[in-house]
Amino acid sequence: MSDPAGPMSEVRSPATGEVVGRVPRMGIPEVDRVVRAAHAAQPAWAALTPYDREAATRRATAMARSRAEAIGRLMALEQGKPFNQSKSEVTSSCDLIDYYAAEGPRIEGKILPTERGDYRSFVSYRPVGVAALITPWNYPVALLAWKLGPALAAGCAAVVKPSPVTPLSPSAFVEALLAGGLPAGLVGLVTGEGPEPGKALVAHPLVDKVAMTGSTATGKAIMREFGPTLKRITLELGGCCPAIVLPDADLDLTAEAIAYKGFRNMGQSCSTINRVYAHRSIHDALVERVVGQANKFRIGDGVTDGTVDLGPMATAESLEKVKAHLADALARGATLVHGGTGPAGEAFARGHFFLPTVLTGMTPAMRVAHEETFGPLVPFAAYDDLDEAIAQANDTPYGLVSYLFTRDTGKAQALAERLEAGTVCVNHVAVNTHYGPYQGWKESGFGLELGRDAIFEYLDVRHVKVRG
Ligand code: NAD
Repeated sequence: MSDPAGPMSEVRSPATGEVVGRVPRMGIPEVDRVVRAAHAAQPAWAALTPYDREAATRRATAMARSRAEAIGRLMALEQGKPFNQSKSEVTSSCDLIDYYAAEGPRIEGKILPTERGDYRSFVSYRPVGVAALITPWNYPVALLAWKLGPALAAGCAAVVKPSPVTPLSPSAFVEALLAGGLPAGLVGLVTGEGPEPGKALVAHPLVDKVAMTGSTATGKAIMREFGPTLKRITLELGGCCPAIVLPDADLDLTAEAIAYKGFRNMGQSCSTINRVYAHRSIHDALVERVVGQANKFRIGDGVTDGTVDLGPMATAESLEKVKAHLADALARGATLVHGGTGPAGEAFARGHFFLPTVLTGMTPAMRVAHEETFGPLVPFAAYDDLDEAIAQANDTPYGLVSYLFTRDTGKAQALAERLEAGTVCVNHVAVNTHYGPYQGWKESGFGLELGRDAIFEYLDVRHVKVRG
């Protein structure tokens, strides 16, 4: 997979700053080797029946499941996500890959009616070839599984390029899949520092498809690099997700949902609730309940105590961005209601810890109202006019997820159609499920992940038209 004698990159704990692992720092020649191995392995994988691919994939995920504790521990170490949540990310990723493995045999072709009696028309699919899977650090294994599952089911080979911040758990996950019997080379791994390994993958002539999750800035950089190569591409990018709370909402349920989706994984999710528009009549009561929920979260080093709710943020830069958004909001007139600093105590001194933070008095001029904070900061605005709240919710370059809270689900259906987001959640925050298609609008990206149809992102259409 790599030359252990070559240069290595260090991985540091966000809880202590200590070095917790090393991975090969690959350059263009190493990336080339991995891509060529994937390219060589792909035809035999594609030639298997989909039932055989399903069986082989299930054997591989069984191995990964059996190593979920070890992989989860690496994720907790490198990302800061508490061990229990990290381990569950590994097992749920195996479930997702199995879901796609089962979908493989259901990739059905079509016979179409034709314009003349002596024509016959057959539509079928073939795998695109080698897919480069470029992933971020916030869900290091899950976001890889979202891509790997459909790629393998479609008959593609894959080269996985995890974030340099969190390469250990995805590397161990890939190693487990290979140890579980996936053919050598079929799933390759590229690690290293900076954008170079990702750029080398995007530019490689034997890479046929790129699926990337990351920031909108990186998505745009990839589009620029990508121009000359004309590969297929899926981009899942950033968000600045709004929640609108109507006066008739169930406030206990809403507060629990907002706190969960605002603070879970330290707000480092593309679908994190970045801002809340609450009707003035229930605003104060809701804020009070969200603060009550925030107070319940236990914060700590999720490696030493895997049961805590929140760990440190993954990087110093992320923490700085949260502080910058907070300072900007306060300078523009917001009120700090809860949090706003790191937790007190020696145990938190060396890590990127921060308290769940609640603000009121958000205005459109503040960065939190239209930029992705990507941290545990939930600002509230009180609204009087629902149309105005919807306009403000839509007033960002992003269009990933919007949340609505109301007991009137009939009205919610109509409101959902006015929100500029690929996903709208009403009265819950269970955004991502195996069956539900997930697509960003506007600068949140394009192409599909999750849901059955994501398999078609890894397939080419073949139309055979026969006369006679
Ligand atoms: P990032 O954009 O910094 O990096 C993402 C990946 O791209 C990394 O593997 C990185 O090494 C690689 N990369 C960087 N420059 C590249 C280049 N020029 N060519 C090829 N590859 C390159 O993202 P991050 O900071 O790791 O993750 C956080 C971001 O991811 C947030 O903006 C978040 O919203 C987004 N995200 C989106 C979704 C979604 O489904 N829409 C899900 C999770 C995270």
